[in-house]
Amino acid sequence: MKLTLRIALLLIPILGLAQLKSPSEFLGYELGTQFTRHHEVVDYYQYLAEAEPNRMKLIEYGKTNERRPLILVTISTEENMQNLEQIREEHMKGLNGEGSPNKAIVWLSYNVHGNESVSTEASMQTIYDLFTSKSKYLEDIVVLIDPCINPDGRDRYVNWYNQFKNAPNQVDPQSKEHHENWWSGRSNHYMFDLNRDWAWLTQVESQQRLKQFNKWLPHVHVDFHEQGVDNPYFFAPAAEPFHEVITDFQREFQETIGKNHAKYFDENGWFYFTKEVFDLLYPSYGDTYPTYNGGIGMTYEQGGSGRAGLGIITSIGDTLTLKDRIAHHHTTGLSTVEVAANNVAKLNDEFKKFYLNKDYKYNSYVLNGNPDKIEALADLLNKHEIEFQAGTNVTVKGYNYNTGKTGTIKSTEKSLVISTNQPKSTLVKVLFEPSAKLSDSVTYDITAWSLPYAYGLDAIASESSVSKTSNSITQPELKSTVANSYAYLADWNSMKDAKFLAELLRNNVRVRYAHKPFTLDGISHERGTLIITKSDNKHLKDFNDILKNASINNSKNVISTNTGFVESGKDFGSGYVDIIQNLKIAVLSGEPTSTLRFGEIWNFFEQQLDYPISVLDEGYFGRVDLSKYDILILPDGRGYNSFLNSYTKEKIKDWVKRGGKLIAMGGAIDGITAKDEDFKLSEKEMEKDSSTTIESFEVSEREQIKSAITGAIFKATVDNTNPLAYGYDDTYFTLKLGARSYNYLENGSAVYLSKGNNEPVSGFAGSEAKKKIAETLIYGTEQMGRGQIIYMVDNPLFRGFWENGKLFFANALFMVK
Ligand SMILES: [Zn+2]
Repeated sequence: MKLTLRIALLLIPILGLAQLKSPSEFLGYELGTQFTRHHEVVDYYQYLAEAEPNRMKLIEYGKTNERRPLILVTISTEENMQNLEQIREEHMKGLNGEGSPNKAIVWLSYNVHGNESVSTEASMQTIYDLFTSKSKYLEDIVVLIDPCINPDGRDRYVNWYNQFKNAPNQVDPQSKEHHENWWSGRSNHYMFDLNRDWAWLTQVESQQRLKQFNKWLPHVHVDFHEQGVDNPYFFAPAAEPFHEVITDFQREFQETIGKNHAKYFDENGWFYFTKEVFDLLYPSYGDTYPTYNGGIGMTYEQGGSGRAGLGIITSIGDTLTLKDRIAHHHTTGLSTVEVAANNVAKLNDEFKKFYLNKDYKYNSYVLNGNPDKIEALADLLNKHEIEFQAGTNVTVKGYNYNTGKTGTIKSTEKSLVISTNQPKSTLVKVLFEPSAKLSDSVTYDITAWSLPYAYGLDAIASESSVSKTSNSITQPELKSTVANSYAYLADWNSMKDAKFLAELLRNNVRVRYAHKPFTLDGISHERGTLIITKSDNKHLKDFNDILKNASINNSKNVISTNTGFVESGKDFGSGYVDIIQNLKIAVLSGEPTSTLRFGEIWNFFEQQLDYPISVLDEGYFGRVDLSKYDILILPDGRGYNSFLNSYTKEKIKDWVKRGGKLIAMGGAIDGITAKDEDFKLSEKEMEKDSSTTIESFEVSEREQIKSAITGAIFKATVDNTNPLAYGYDDTYFTLKLGARSYNYLENGSAVYLSKGNNEPVSGFAGSEAKKKIAETLIYGTEQMGRGQIIYMVDNPLFRGFWENGKLFFANALFMVK
C-alpha cells in the first residue's frame, strides 16, 4: 500500500510531463514546416500557461498599433514561482548594493525584427524544453520570455510569405517567395526599427515593454535576430567598440557564454563567428541597453531573415531550412540558460558590484531652457526610471555643451539636475555625456546621441555634486482665459506648440502668425507667434470651447488681448501677418523612399503631431491629382533617379509653380534637383585627389571611413528670420548621418554649417567627410513660381528622438509660406 502510494506520487509529475504538448503537437504541423501566425503563437503560450499553472505566469503587457497582444511569460520551478515576488525584490535590492539573492534572471527576447521570423518559432521549442528535458536549469533560474517583441512586423512577413510561397516551398533564391516587397516585415507598424528604440522609446511596443523590463533588470538578456542567408551564426562576445562603461566582468561573461555555445556548435559541425560586426556602443539596442543596466546583453544572429522562407539554396549550394534555423536559435537559447544556471552566485555578485557607486568624471548634469523641452526630457527620464530634481539658486561650473569649453550655468528651480549618484548612473552617463569615447570608429551605428543636444537645452556637465531640491520640476501654471476677447496670442517654440496649432487647424480654426517681432500690452512677442482672432473664426459656433480645449489638452497658455493695434512691429491686419488654414498634406511611399525614413514621417503626423496625412504610393503617383494637396513630402530614399522620370518631375514642378509646397528630404533632394537648372540648389563638388598612392589591401576599410560620418553632432548656424527657423535661437546642434552636401542658398539658408564648424562636437567624422561638409546647407527654402521648395539635408525626424529638430519640420508645414 505504502509502496503503491509512492509510485503513484512519482507517476503524477511524470504523467504531467508526458501530457504537455510540444509545439508540433499543439500546432498540428511539425515545427519548421510552416510559419506560425502570431495569434497561433499566443495560443500555444496560453495553452502552456494553463497546463503549467505552477511553473509559469503569462501576462499581456500591452497591445501593438494593430492591436495584437504583447505577452511576457515567466517560468521557473514550482517553488521559485511561489516566491517569485520575493525573488524579484531581493534581486532589485542589488541596485542599492543590498540584498542576498540566490537566483539568476535570464530574459530571452524574440523577433524584434518581424521578418527575422525564425526567432518566435524557436522560442516555442525552447520553452517546451525548459519545462521538460531541461527543467533542471530552472532550479536557480527565473526565465522571462518575450516570444515576439514585434507582432505587427512578424505577421506582415508571415502573411506575405504564406500568400506568395510555392507549394511545396521553392528553394530557388530567385523565386518570389524570397523577395519581400518594399513594405517588408522587419519594422513595426510605423516602419520603425524597434532595435534602435530601446533608449528613445518612441514606439508603443518599446514603451510598454520597458515597464516590464525595469521591474526585473535581468542578469542576462538575449536579443534574437537574423542576418543574410549566407552568414554563419553570430554569438557573443561582441565586436569592438565596446562602450567604456562596460565592465571587465561583462566582457568576460560574454566570452563564457560564447564558449559554451561554441561547444554545441562544434559538436554539430555548425559554423559561427564572434567578435566581429556587432559592436556594443549605441545605447538603443537590445544588447547595449540591458548591458548599461547591469546585465549581460547580447545579440544572436542566425543566417536567414526575410529572404530565407522555409528553405533556400545558399551561395555554396547547400539548402538552409527553417528547421536548421530553429535548431541554432534553440541551441543558443538553452545554452544561455545553462551558463547562467552554472554561474548564479557570480552573476548576483557582479550585478550588485555594477550598481556600486561609480567614479565617473561628471557627477551632475544641469540643464536649462524652454520649459516644454525640459518637460519632454523629464518625460523620457521618467520612462527610464532615471531620477532628476530641480536646482537651487547656485552657479555651476563645468563643461559647457554649447561652447565645448569650461563655463558656468545658473541653476534655478526651473533647471533639471541629474546626478550620477543614483542606481541608473551608468545609463545617465551614457545618455548625457558630451561625447562617447570611441575605441574604434568602425561601428555598426551612430556614434553620438548626447541628450542635451537632442533636446536643444543649455547644459553643463559638472565634476562636482550640484545641490538640488527634493522637488521635481515645476511646470508653469496653465492660466489661459478664453472669454470673447478680440484675439489670443500663443508663443511658438516647441513641439508642444506645434501640437496645439495642429489641434486648432484640425478643428477648422483659422490661425494667423507674425513674420515680425511685435510688442502688445507691454509684452514682446517673437516671430512665429500665433494670433487667433475672434473675427477670423466667426464660422465656428463653439470657437471658445475649441480654443479652451486645445489650450488644456496641450497645457498651452494663451494671452488674450482686446486690440490688434500693436505698440511696435506690425498690426494683425498687416501683410507681415499670414494666415494658416486647414492644410492638406501628402507623403510619398514606396520604392523610391526608404521604409524607415517614410515611417518616421508617418509616425510624426499620427503619433506626435496628431494631424492627418494622405499616404501616396509611387505605383499610382502618375494618376494622383496633386491639386488636392497644399504640401507634398518626399522622404529620403535611394530610388529617386528612376522614379523621377521627366513626366513625374514636370508634374511635381508644375504643381509647385502653381503654389504647392514641396518638402524634399535627404536623397529626394538629389533626385529632384540633379541636372535641372530650374533649381537654385547645387551639390557641393569636391576636387578629386589626383595623387596615386598604393596602399595595402588590408587598410581599405580604414581608408573608406575617411569619407564617412557615422552619425555625429555638429554646431550649425541658424537664421531665425527665415520662417523655417522661427522659434529657434541662432545656433542648433544637428545630427549628421552622411557627407552628401549642398552649397548655401542665396536667400534661403535657414540652417547651415558656418566656416570652421565642420568639426563634430560629438561623434566620428572622417577627414575627407569633414572637408566635404564645410560651409554647406542643412535646411533651406527656395521659391519656384508661386510655390516653395524646402530642403532638409539632415533628418530632423531621425528615429523620432531628436526632439529639438521637430519644430523645423513643423515650421516647414505651417510657417513657410
Ligand atoms: Zn535583426
